[in-house]
Amino acid sequence: MLVDINKISGKGLLLDDSVELDENMLIEDGSFFLGDIAYNIFLKREGSQVKAKGRIITSVSLLCVYCLEQFEMKINSKFDIILFPGDLVDLNKALNPDEMEYIFYEGDKIDLSKILMEQVNLFIPFNPMCSPDCKGICPNCGINLNYHQCKCENSLNSMNFLFNNITR
Ligand SMILES: [Zn+2]
Ligand SMILES: [Zn+2]
Repeated sequence: MLVDINKISGKGLLLDDSVELDENMLIEDGSFFLGDIAYNIFLKREGSQVKAKGRIITSVSLLCVYCLEQFEMKINSKFDIILFPGDLVDLNKALNPDEMEYIFYEGDKIDLSKILMEQVNLFIPFNPMCSPDCKGICPNCGINLNYHQCKCENSLNSMNFLFNNITR
């Protein structure tokens, strides 16, 4: 999905569509898309930079690090980024990551799928959990403690042990 920056007029270019993206580009293990990515992006040129402001809406299935079950996470995320031409970026120049993010484009083409994918990956939390109260699985008998109780002793202690190992 390449956008030719020469097609972005002075008034800007609005892209409003949806696309199916390759889930192999999701960085989180065990994650996959549950639908297309709907996007609404406004592109505007400013000199050699392109400003991209927009929103993505999609839904992904993630693997809970506690109970190891898949769960759905809805993504509805706004972004406001500046795209720099890859050959003109002065990496020594101080960037201001607090306000915006900076992504490069190559030649005069912007890879839209790359931008969308990056926004999805940014939205997915590190160590995703199906719920803040997820009780996880018992490391002795493997039962999902969200649905069942088990009679193993020390299941709480060993669960903490397991969690510490996962998050490390
Ligand atoms: Zn869970
Ligand atoms: Zn158990």
